[in-house]
Amino acid sequence: STNLVEDEHVGGILLNARDVSERKAFEAELAHQAFHDPVTGLANRSMFAEQVRQTIARARRDGRSPAVIFLDLDDFKTINDSLGHAAGDEVLIEFARRLDESIRGADVAARFGGDEFAVLLEHVAEMQDAADAAQRILELLARPMRAGHRQVTLSGSIGISVFGAEDARDADELIRDADAAMYIAKRDGKNGYRVFEPAMHAGVLARLELRNDLQRALVSDEFELYYQPVVRLSDGSVSGVEALLRWRHPERGLVSPVEFIPIAEETGLIIPIGRWVLREGCRHARRLGADGTTLRMSVNLSLKQIQYSDIVADVRDALEDSGLAPDRLVLEITESVLMDDTELAVERLSELKALGVGLALDDFGTGYSSLSYLSRFPVDILKMDRSFLGDGAKPGSRSLATAVVGLGATLALEVVAEGIEEPEQAETLRALGCDLGQGFLFARPMTAEDSLAYVAEHPHRSAAHAAQS
Ligand code: C2E
Ligand code: CA
Ligand code: CA
Repeated sequence: STNLVEDEHVGGILLNARDVSERKAFEAELAHQAFHDPVTGLANRSMFAEQVRQTIARARRDGRSPAVIFLDLDDFKTINDSLGHAAGDEVLIEFARRLDESIRGADVAARFGGDEFAVLLEHVAEMQDAADAAQRILELLARPMRAGHRQVTLSGSIGISVFGAEDARDADELIRDADAAMYIAKRDGKNGYRVFEPAMHAGVLARLELRNDLQRALVSDEFELYYQPVVRLSDGSVSGVEALLRWRHPERGLVSPVEFIPIAEETGLIIPIGRWVLREGCRHARRLGADGTTLRMSVNLSLKQIQYSDIVADVRDALEDSGLAPDRLVLEITESVLMDDTELAVERLSELKALGVGLALDDFGTGYSSLSYLSRFPVDILKMDRSFLGDGAKPGSRSLATAVVGLGATLALEVVAEGIEEPEQAETLRALGCDLGQGFLFARPMTAEDSLAYVAEHPHRSAAHAAQS
């Protein structure tokens, strides 16, 4: 070794100079690994937090104003999922290089993992400085970079949290607030930045917490499926059930899917969660059909599952593992699935159809429902949105319902009216010739056990899927 390291006594053992230099190199390597992100070489979260702590402590003495910038790349998953992880890493590394080059000496750039980055600005004289820094980061992202054989450009959402005079926040709080502001920037349309204000806290913090908790919910077995009967309007018999996801949060109790599904979609967690719903729903359908009946099980799918996972394999696996006949499973999708990427949707839905499952168009009428879409997609069932029922007093809602039922008849699709609460609504729909209904009037979503009892107590009769065009 050319390193001239003096001999050292370690624990009474005399090490020679070579051992010592090797050990030091090894220790340095370990220290580097402990404080740096292995992919990009930037500081990692713990190193960054430590730097923020030190900078804040100095700022308290000398009155300077550090700022934390929190960056989350927009739609980075798309790159990873469509071009592969190697291409994804290539992009992260290139962006990290640009970021590192663009910051000033005393500033720190970090990667928190995934597609999250942070920058510590050691001092911002005025708010505009921080805003300019955020703007520069967005520009770095917008410059084309290589991802495998492709060129891509990125965008990101940025939150800024500035440490002011008399600021009582600690490092973790400063970072957390930048994260909260990022969340608002993302929600307000991505590719932009927002400066943290205390008023952002209430809603955003709750969401951040939910996001963290959601990551554990699947492994902690906190999800549950409720089931709501779908009833034949002509004779009141049960034709099937719809599986509705519930999250039994250890502190909050039952959390509504309206609250957590959007977060699950944003984070990509909807894919493993949706896979679980499919398996669990199919398993329960077997129990419901234990007496030989052929009740149908409807499962809701998210657009993300169709775009970013092998949904066909997941459905096939769920069917095979449960032993459920494919024609007893109905997959519910909303129109947005059809709107976003029509080619992909047509292909996926046709593959799903080929497995023998039924397809329902959910919340029909709330989107851009156009007839040309309907004719291109191999759907069997229209689920008419609750808003079509109106409050009964409005004459307009009745004519809309009439139109949807008529459309179903024309295209040979079954129609399920959702959200029936009043007997008059059921009566009106029956008179219009609507096949099926679902709503609190008949039954609220119930636990798996209750659904078994419900089915045992009510006459049931399933329908074959409507003829295909
Ligand atoms: P959705 O698919 O339209 O489900 C129907 C919603 O209407 C359910 O809300 C149900 O409880 C509610 N509902 C049923 N009958 C009535 C009624 O008579 N009156 C009123 N006011 N509401 C009624 P829920 O269970 O809160 O689910 C909300 C949404 O969350 C679902 O809307 C669906 O889009 C989504 N969701 C639920 N489970 C899953 C899932 O496993 N995966 C995915 N991707 N989305 C799910
Ligand atoms: Ca549904
Ligand atoms: Ca619906």
